[in-house]
Amino acid sequence: MKTSVQIFFLSLISLVIWSCYGGNDVNVDPELQEYVDRFNAEANARGLNFDLRIEEIDISLAEIFSSGVLGQCVNNEDRNDAIQIDESYWKEPTTTDLDKEFVVFHELGHCVLNRGHLNTADVDGICSSIMYNGNSTNCNLEYNAENREDLIDELFQ
Ligand SMILES: [Zn+2]
Repeated sequence: MKTSVQIFFLSLISLVIWSCYGGNDVNVDPELQEYVDRFNAEANARGLNFDLRIEEIDISLAEIFSSGVLGQCVNNEDRNDAIQIDESYWKEPTTTDLDKEFVVFHELGHCVLNRGHLNTADVDGICSSIMYNGNSTNCNLEYNAENREDLIDELFQ
């Protein structure tokens, strides 16, 4: 009798450990939530809805050690996809609200909209997509109150 109780608890413990490693821990970091909500709001305003898709993605702040990489969308075959935003960049005082929006929208563009990079320029040489790869010399990145709406249109088109 005693043994079977022990076995029961042992299997319960291993089940808990298994779900930590094998399970899908899907969360949105509270600091990123506002920007994820904005993405959804912009999608909704254009008649689109990605609520269910976003719920499958683990979205977190993490130290990314590859230089110049501010975020990444990781596609996982046997577990949920993940977006990681570089924590140092996020916490730098010089990183503006629009900078943060840009990097979150860019990664959601990869993970949710399945978009690749696009480095085209408009007539003034300004990057015409949020999916700009971040280091191409084809265009100059500007993301401001003036062109934000157009770039978001382009993202969801
Ligand atoms: Zn990218």
